[in-house]
Formats: sequence, structure tokens, C-alpha cells
Amino acid sequence: MVDIISKVERQVKETIKKYKICNKKEKVLVALSGGKDSTLTAYLLKKFGYNISGFHINLGLGKYSDNCENAIKVFCSENKIPLKIYDIKKEMGSRMCYIRAGVQAREKVKNCLICGVIKKSIMNKEARMLKVDKIATGHNLDDEVQTFLANVFKASLNLSSNTGPITKNISDKKLIPRIKPLFFVLEDDIREYVKLKKLKIIPQPCPCGIDSYRIQIRKFLNTISEKEKRNIIANFENIQNKIKRQKDNIQYCELCGEPSRNKLCKKCNLLKN
Ligand code: AMP
Ligand code: ZN
Repeated sequence: MVDIISKVERQVKETIKKYKICNKKEKVLVALSGGKDSTLTAYLLKKFGYNISGFHINLGLGKYSDNCENAIKVFCSENKIPLKIYDIKKEMGSRMCYIRAGVQAREKVKNCLICGVIKKSIMNKEARMLKVDKIATGHNLDDEVQTFLANVFKASLNLSSNTGPITKNISDKKLIPRIKPLFFVLEDDIREYVKLKKLKIIPQPCPCGIDSYRIQIRKFLNTISEKEKRNIIANFENIQNKIKRQKDNIQYCELCGEPSRNKLCKKCNLLKN
């Protein structure tokens, strides 16, 4: 039987080393959702001796958000990880469902896209204020294959051009590099590790994550082997240098001052009336 604990830890150590995603002198802010992936990311970085703190955005999604926040507080206190909570209702004046409803009344945009854009913008700004060097997220191998395939099917490969265990961002003092220590770890192995170590997580997915296209791709991924998933990512890495890169010139959003590829950042573009 494969020893999942050793397998996962070896893969994460190799990813950190091979892609030089962080070192022990840097401050890393782990974006914690309460789910298995980001919890394991924080657990392993802490176990390996990195200087981490946690950051959670409470999206105001009723009981689900309360449960996530509580689980994260318990996990961070048990593992002696400093934690900052950002309450979207207090900071932005509305819960995520109302923010989303406002956007969707004007244009047809998927739930997860709106939430993802807003979360990313908050994370970058907060990480900068906290003066950390990197933001770590819990994206795993299955997430990455899924995103890559979705971009292939939409013929939008350029959207994958900056992806990797460390985001290939153009350096800009206002843009905090993002790292994905679980980039090469299989979702099933994460589930198993978290179960074996009894880590405090919320097993339910977000109640608003109803993107049917992603669900379909996920169903397909469940039918292919680990080897095939790894091949897809390896093939993607082979062609990545040949993909037309997204625009490199970073400017600052006219409304909020955050780094952006256009006059308005993605968040302000969604929220504008
Ligand atoms: P998702 O966008 O839900 O697929 O989540 C991708 C990654 O973003 C997770 O692995 C976390 O690292 C981070 N993340 C998601 N939701 C939150 C949240 N509410 N607060 C902080 N980080 C989050
Ligand atoms: Zn903006």
C-alpha cells in the first residue's frame, strides 16, 4: 500500500525546491477557506518550518461561513498559526450573495468567477498591508488540470500562460506573488492525508459553487487515472512557453489603485454600476 503521508510530503517538498516557491526567511500568508486543500497547505508549510500566518475571508454565507471561520480558528490555534479574519460584510458593506446579485442583475457572470475575482483582490491588498512576501493557496493537481482543460475548451489558452506552482507575474511592487505548494498533489491523496491526520476542516463545498461547466469537467477527470492527469500537466508545462502571454504592462486601477492589466481592475469592472 502506498504511504500517502510520505507521498504527499515528498511531492510538496519537491515542488517547493524545484520551483523555488518560497524560503524560510520569507513571510507567507496562507489563504484559508476552511476546506481540506488550504488547511493542508498551512499544515505542511508550518510542519516544514516556514514562517506562515493565515488569512480568511468570511464571505457572509450564513451557517456555512460561520462553520468555516470556526474550523479555521480551531486549526490555527491548535497549530500556533497567527490568523487574520476579513469580514466582507463589515469591510465591503454586503455579504457575497448580495454583491453577486448586484453584478448578475447587470451581466451574466458565474458565481465562482465573481467571488474569485473579489477574493483575489482582497487577498493581494491585505497581503501587501501585512507586508508578507508570498500568498499561498490550496490549489491542487485536479484543480490545475480542470482549469487548463476549461481554458483549452474555451480556446483561451492565454489565460493559463501565467499559471504554475508560482505565478509567473510581471514583478510589480503592489502585486504579491502567489504560490501553490499542492500543485502536484492529487485531490484524493489530500482527502486521505487530512483524514489520517484528523485535521480540522469543513468537508462541504461552498453552497454557491454551482458552475455546471466545471462540474462536468470534474466528472470527466474522475474517469481518468493519476498518470493521465500528470501527463496533461506535463504536456501543458511543455507548451507553456509557446503560449501567447497575457499583457505584461501593469497599470493601477483608476478607481481603487490596485494593480491591473486594464484601466479598471477586474474587481472594479465587475462592481461598477
Ligand atoms: P476557490 O477559489 O474556492 O477554488 O479557492 C482557491 C483557493 O483560494 C483556496 O485553496 C484557498 O487557498 C483560497 N480561498 C478560497 N476561499 C477563501 C476564503 N474565503 N478566504 C481565504 N482564502 C480562500
Ligand atoms: Zn479597481
